[in-house]
Amino acid sequence: MNDASRFPALALDAVERRYGRGETTVEVLTGATFALFPGQSVALIAPSGAGKSTLLHLAGLLERPSAGEVLVAGAPTSTMSDDQRTAIRRSQIGFVYQFHQLLPEFSALENLVLPQMIAGLKRKEAETRGRELLAYLGLAKRETHRPAELSGGEQQRVAIARAVANSPRILLADEPTGNLDPKTADHVFGTLASLVKATGLAALIATHNMDLAARMDRRVTIRDGQVAEVG
Ligand code: ADP
Repeated sequence: MNDASRFPALALDAVERRYGRGETTVEVLTGATFALFPGQSVALIAPSGAGKSTLLHLAGLLERPSAGEVLVAGAPTSTMSDDQRTAIRRSQIGFVYQFHQLLPEFSALENLVLPQMIAGLKRKEAETRGRELLAYLGLAKRETHRPAELSGGEQQRVAIARAVANSPRILLADEPTGNLDPKTADHVFGTLASLVKATGLAALIATHNMDLAARMDRRVTIRDGQVAEVG
């Protein structure tokens, strides 16, 4: 058994995050504790300004906590060097944003191939996996399309495929369907949910869409700087 499988894919232990602003300090997180397990999808629902982006940045090792610990597969990350954190981010964490952020001058397939080649795969292997992922997400006929030649829902499905191209352990998403009409959002979300189940990914998804949140395994919010379970 892989030792890491005994641990949550992602854990926050008493995480604090404050921002200095002139003379004053903004306390965003004041001891956030949270565990996300493999194969689990969790909705993060909180009002604007509550600290969702801050929490996702900390979880994605894009920022360091002011105090407390962020653990990826049981490994504490706060004392790691920037290079170590970058290596973990690249190999174990996938990101999906509200706006797809695909490279506009490359095809859907190339957008999936490039991160895999950066991670060290040969082009042929990367293309094979890229094609499999696009097919899984119902985009087999869109391989050669550039982002501008895809619908909003298709762009977001390519962005999801890209986020998981390197087989991460954790998927972090910030309003991944916030830019889509309700029907398309529903479809994109359904694809994301089945991908999470099929791959054993652990997904933390910030959303304002309560219908979609209701379909996830758990729902959490940020209250007074701490993570609290809801509904
Ligand atoms: P949300 O994503 O829930 O809208 P954020 O995590 O973006 O919330 O922000 C939470 C709070 O932290 C807000 O009050 C915001 O103004 C503040 N904040 C976020 N980033 C910074 C920063 N780099 N410097 C100062 N304050 C920040």
